[in-house]
Amino acid sequence: MANIALRIPENVPGDFYVDSTCIDCDACRQIAPKTFAEDGDYSIVHHQPQSDEEIRRAMMALVACPTASIGTVEHHDAHIGIDAFPELIAENVYYCGFNAESSFGAWSYLIVRPEAAGGNLLIDSPRFATQLVKKIDAKGGVKGMFLTHKDDVADHFRFAERYACERIMHAADGAHGLGIEKVIRGGEAVNLDEDSTVVPVPGHTRGHMVLLYKNKFLFTGDHLAWSPTRNTLIAFRNACWYSWSEQIKSMEKLLDYEFEWVLPGHGRIHHDTAANMNLHLDRCIRWMKTR
Ligand code: SF4
Repeated sequence: MANIALRIPENVPGDFYVDSTCIDCDACRQIAPKTFAEDGDYSIVHHQPQSDEEIRRAMMALVACPTASIGTVEHHDAHIGIDAFPELIAENVYYCGFNAESSFGAWSYLIVRPEAAGGNLLIDSPRFATQLVKKIDAKGGVKGMFLTHKDDVADHFRFAERYACERIMHAADGAHGLGIEKVIRGGEAVNLDEDSTVVPVPGHTRGHMVLLYKNKFLFTGDHLAWSPTRNTLIAFRNACWYSWSEQIKSMEKLLDYEFEWVLPGHGRIHHDTAANMNLHLDRCIRWMKTR
């Protein structure tokens, strides 16, 4: 629970607030931009939610916040936020919410599909919260769990225990040590099933991978994201733990694929035509080469 005694003074007065335990992960600002904004190293409430929809989005941010840094003075039914997750993004792809602090608040996603089509696939790990697990149960559980890289594995072992699902991760990011069931090696793309392709993209970490689903949804972990300030796709130069030159090569590899959605762990989600995404990716690569 957020602590009113730690309320950041820059919050506007009123019901909702952020306290100083905020780790500046950006989740609340993406979920409820009308309420939350960036202020230095924190998020703050820049506008108190007024309408039912604004309150619902603010409560979703409260539930998703990895550090429980968002609080309210008045009582609100927590289910307003809890019941909104997993939140549909498009078609059968959902954002899980319940971001985990151990993955610095990275976003995780759920693909919901029948067993015959491969079953549900969890992409990176949310917090293992009972309320979320019940919702995932109701959607058919988890058949596979794709882990983009070693930073965002969070509660993977608890999901694996609960659902006996097959986890997929690259050897170069320590998959063996984590007891991963399906270990990917080398740099070649691997088809998981008819609709899903795993593409190794070393750079951010040595064993980073992205997942392309239906040639439309690209789950990018910390490899690639949208920047609303630069209005294009970006990579994180200051959070490249392995090799920037390798990350550029990995980015070039993605030019061969079509996708309309970028769904990252950190950074913003973006949707556009495949042609425009390709242009943004090309622009991102040219920008990377100047860094
Ligand atoms: S979701 Fe929580 S930790 Fe992340 S920026 Fe908002 S208040 Fe801070």
